Amino acid sequence: MPACIHCQTDSQFLTYDALGLCHHCAPQHAPIIAGAIQGISEAAASRTKARRAADQLEALRESLGHCDVLQAYAGLRFEGVDPAKLRSELEQMRTDTVEQAIRDHWFEARERARDAASPKGMAGSYGKAISRLQDLAEHVDDAAVIEKAVIVLRAERDGLVFEDLVRQAQLAEQQGRKSRARDLYIEAVFALRKDGTPDAYQTDKIELAEKQIERLGGRP
Ligand SMILES: [Zn+2]
Repeated sequence: MPACIHCQTDSQFLTYDALGLCHHCAPQHAPIIAGAIQGISEAAASRTKARRAADQLEALRESLGHCDVLQAYAGLRFEGVDPAKLRSELEQMRTDTVEQAIRDHWFEARERARDAASPKGMAGSYGKAISRLQDLAEHVDDAAVIEKAVIVLRAERDGLVFEDLVRQAQLAEQQGRKSRARDLYIEAVFALRKDGTPDAYQTDKIELAEKQIERLGGRP
């Protein structure tokens, strides 16, 4: 007879139920196990119905919580439920859900930025994607992938806004509006500088823009 899955006692004086609990532990622990198993199937049903990634992630988190409960009973035998296997499947689903959400928001941000008429509109489309991803971070235990995506999205946004302002500055100069061109270059530099430390690629761009600012009379 294997030991009880809760108190680990292995004794000929104890009787064991189908789950592997001894008759001392069964009254308290059999309902906990049954509750967790029911919770897993309810969370699976609500995940299937959920349309928003946040709701899907919340259902996955709930299922993982129930898995934790089951995994505390080492040696638990339950027809059709393998907590360790289920956990790895749920973790994979969570990763897939987060990655899909990042792809979707990114795609949408790029599409909208392409249609945007101004740097402000361009930044706004990325801003929306960034804040949606930040909301999503609250529904996962490890937000590292989301945080990384947010950093990349910000850099892409700042780069696009910069390029757009530089194009406008060049146009203004062609039209003979020198001080307008200079102001646009100053704005372009600001677009790259506002989010933390600029990387090497950004530093090069900033230097080029600074040269134009100098050439056009320097900062006011
Ligand atoms: Zn026991």
